[in-house]
Amino acid sequence: MKRISEGIFKRRKATCPHCGVRNDQLGDPDGDRQPKVGDLAVCIDCAGVLQITESGFDKFDKFDTLTADDLEELRNAQACIRHINTVN
Ligand SMILES: [Zn+2]
Repeated sequence: MKRISEGIFKRRKATCPHCGVRNDQLGDPDGDRQPKVGDLAVCIDCAGVLQITESGFDKFDKFDTLTADDLEELRNAQACIRHINTVN
């Protein structure tokens, strides 16, 4: 996990636009790459899809712009978070 506050946001407050929970850490399932503006993320609390902006997160709903592989990866991440939140 990388703390979001390591410089990608101009403001440090990064709340989920879906549920309002503060998300201040990001994990990269493919390695240890630093998150950047434009990347997609999934809220650890509600599994909503987020897009990183310079000021925090926006809701992301342009799923038709994603490749089938990226969409599958996103749906798998959402399913994992929902499962974890169900058993905890
Ligand atoms: Zn959320």
